[in-house]
Amino acid sequence: MSDANADTPEPAPISERDRRFMALAQAAAEEARAAGEVPVGAVLVCGDEVIAKGFNHPIGGHDPSAHAEMAALRAAAQKLENYRLPGCELYVTLEPCLMCAGAIMHARIARVVYGARDPKTGACGSVVDAFANPQLNHHTTVTGGVLADECGAALRSFFADRRRAAREARAAAASSNASDAADPRPDTNPTH
Ligand SMILES: [Zn+2]
Repeated sequence: MSDANADTPEPAPISERDRRFMALAQAAAEEARAAGEVPVGAVLVCGDEVIAKGFNHPIGGHDPSAHAEMAALRAAAQKLENYRLPGCELYVTLEPCLMCAGAIMHARIARVVYGARDPKTGACGSVVDAFANPQLNHHTTVTGGVLADECGAALRSFFADRRRAAREARAAAASSNASDAADPRPDTNPTH
């Protein structure tokens, strides 16, 4: 990077393998978007095989734990019939939260690769760094910032669309109220 300070080490180059699996996590995130959920996606990889994928769906699932990582971990554990997934890697488009970091440790995931940082709930260094705590017995390495711009853009466009829809709904309600106020007749048909 041209603006990098000479004392700042260059970040390690992103491998083609990491790009490939993160692209699959991005595809899973689009499934969340299609369902009206915040677009976060994850894939669980063992060796070079995708064992499971998951997308964020807490609203539709009425489940606060239905993050993309949790969905992928559950599906992989069911598939392998093992609650531990040693040697597996989890690719997720957004930095995991504390809940997911805990589940990742319990599953003994070898490596987590995430895309965009989450300044609000990120537990890989943005708010807290669960994986840096030596008192927590885990063996997980973390790689962040893989396709970060693309993963972040998907989230930004989702929230921009949602804000636009909310603005349009407010404007429609305001104009409807204005026309109601201009109408001096009593509302004789409340079901219309
Ligand atoms: Zn989470």
